[in-house]
Amino acid sequence: MNAKRLAELSSPVVAQAVAAGVTTVILPLGATEQHGPHLPLGTDTHRAKALTERLAERLPVLVAPVIPVGCSDEHGGFPGLLSLDAETLAAVIVDCARRMVEWGVRRLVVLSAHGGNGRALAVAEERLRRELPDLSLWIPDSGAVFDETVRAVAAREGIPFEAVGLHAGEWETSELLRLCPEQVRMERAAPGYTGDMDEGLVRLVASGTLALTPTGVVGDPRPANAARGERYLAAQTACYETALRQWLSQTGPA
Ligand SMILES: [Zn+2]
Repeated sequence: MNAKRLAELSSPVVAQAVAAGVTTVILPLGATEQHGPHLPLGTDTHRAKALTERLAERLPVLVAPVIPVGCSDEHGGFPGLLSLDAETLAAVIVDCARRMVEWGVRRLVVLSAHGGNGRALAVAEERLRRELPDLSLWIPDSGAVFDETVRAVAAREGIPFEAVGLHAGEWETSELLRLCPEQVRMERAAPGYTGDMDEGLVRLVASGTLALTPTGVVGDPRPANAARGERYLAAQTACYETALRQWLSQTGPA
């Protein structure tokens, strides 16, 4: 049993935790979408779960089960895809939050490990601020965290950003080698789109991943290793932890 995972606790234990002042929940968002021929469809779900649980080890929070389907229409054309409309995912977030508030949650953190969930997060944020004004809400900017942590680690270690990539490249492959190596098939790892990443992102959003690269890989996974994956995860956790502590202190006593 994990004392932080909502799904592993009984209702009375949760009531006790809330009564003792644990009134913050982190809701992790993942995705089920292609990550090249070498990584599992649940890559972002694994990453969301890992980051959230690492934060929960350090802070007085409860962890909701990860929502394993996100907004991934940009990966259309690749078998295995599951995807929600932004409105649907936003509604799931708002519905879950509504129930949390009923049993005493005062603060909600929605932590997404998939960039495509951005519009759903914006819709959910607008609705939550309007419908549940007493719930403190924090939706971290995962793109800014990526720039500050993953890009910095890679730069220090001499991994070019064209290899780090945006999707199923060195970065995500290293993290998966750390988190669930049994699901990674390095013998199938091959470079995908390795051009300018800003331009790649614009093209990916506009026309989908398949139009950018037939393998679905944006980056080059070949230099990946588990040790760097750990450094990526540790750096992101530390960055989220600092921001989360600051946010918790600003939102006052439970
Ligand atoms: Zn991903």
